[in-house]
Amino acid sequence: MSSSERNIQAVKLPTDWAPDSWRGRTALQLPTYPDAAELEGVLGELRALPPLVTSWEILALKQQLAEAQEGKRFLLQGGDCAETFDACSSDVISNRLKVLLQMSLVLVHGMRKPVVRVGRFAGQYAKPRSADTETVDGVSLPSYRGDMVNAPEFSEAARRPDPRRMIKGHARSSMTMNFVRALIDGGFADLHHPEYWNLSWVGHSPLADEYRRMVNAIGDAVRFMETLSGSEVHNLNRVDFYTSHEALLLPYEESMTRQVPRHWGWFNLSTHYPWIGMRTAAVDGAHAEYFRGLRNPIALKVGPSVTPDQLLKTIDLLNPEDEPGRLTFIHRMGATGIADKLPALLDAVRRDGRRVLWVCDPMHGNTESTTNGYKTRRFRNIRSELEQAFELHAAAGTRLGGVHLELTGEDVTECLGGARELTESDLERAYKSTVDPRLNYEQALEVAMLIVRKQSQ
Ligand code: PEP
Ligand code: MN
Repeated sequence: MSSSERNIQAVKLPTDWAPDSWRGRTALQLPTYPDAAELEGVLGELRALPPLVTSWEILALKQQLAEAQEGKRFLLQGGDCAETFDACSSDVISNRLKVLLQMSLVLVHGMRKPVVRVGRFAGQYAKPRSADTETVDGVSLPSYRGDMVNAPEFSEAARRPDPRRMIKGHARSSMTMNFVRALIDGGFADLHHPEYWNLSWVGHSPLADEYRRMVNAIGDAVRFMETLSGSEVHNLNRVDFYTSHEALLLPYEESMTRQVPRHWGWFNLSTHYPWIGMRTAAVDGAHAEYFRGLRNPIALKVGPSVTPDQLLKTIDLLNPEDEPGRLTFIHRMGATGIADKLPALLDAVRRDGRRVLWVCDPMHGNTESTTNGYKTRRFRNIRSELEQAFELHAAAGTRLGGVHLELTGEDVTECLGGARELTESDLERAYKSTVDPRLNYEQALEVAMLIVRKQSQ
């Protein structure tokens, strides 16, 4: 057993906490359900439904994240901004898995270290919004808050928060999880067959040649090792894949918080790796209170307004025992803000000797609107924030241990630029996101290649 494994098992848990103690705090970004009795009925049903993940998997991921903190692994976390119930389909799920597998292949090959693979899926159904209501032609209705809460159409019925959507969200998450597990167990992620992961529409990608060269080099290496050892290299047949989502909708998360006979403490068993969004990250807020009592590894988005002092208080609350693998900070400052905002935070955490995993989300600080009314992000800003993140960590003596991305395996046109140089007029061709713009397959692969280039500099 390594020292970080021992520390993970020995950690003390708070005694003044319960899955519902968040109810005594200010909870931002939660819907107001019109019928309290209906809500209670639904939560009772949810509490009786089986979990989506296990405590063993959660602790195994925590161990991998502890290794990422030590620089022995790199975290790749990605998926939709918001999953939708309609997009819980075979193609969407398998294409997203393909992109993430291809990206992880590029990273493993280029960085020469194992990758921790985490999807933003199987539960990414609740969204924070900048306004509680949306007004169109003088009519105000509640904002769309993700499929787990209400529906995006602009009508009173669609926007009414409906607790039964949580049951449907649990079911869709479990279908997604089931399919991902079946694909991986069935050999979909087998390194002997990376051709399984090819997406049909990318044959003519400007990046295809570079990717193919890499796949061939890996195939040669696998065959070489097998020739040497005289047998198949078995651990290449399958990979670990974990899930994450923003644990925003606290009534749902509470109902999925369980004790398990074999492991001490409380686990959120709806996902392996929940995170707190930027808008709900206040240290005295309901979300921080809920997260503090979980045994899952947890993450927190860190935006440009966070001060070093706030960040240290957050660590005191969420990881008082300095447990390895426990706490991830996902900074999302924007390409123009990162050089100004990040160094003081890195310095404060390093000087205090606190153990965190630093991850860069180069998406959420770079969102803008085009003149033709689309929410978009420019590839060059995404690239710039990521490149600066590597440089700023190197200068501060800290380590960038991962990347957090919004991406899809679908052929969408939501972010501008990239190898195909998508322009504003391309956006209307295939803009499908209900919330934030995602990298398409090609742009996602390009990010993986750029990480490798940046790392080897
Ligand atoms: C998100 O990840 O979709 C999101 C809303 O991010 P943030 O909390 O960083 O704004
Ligand atoms: Mn988003």
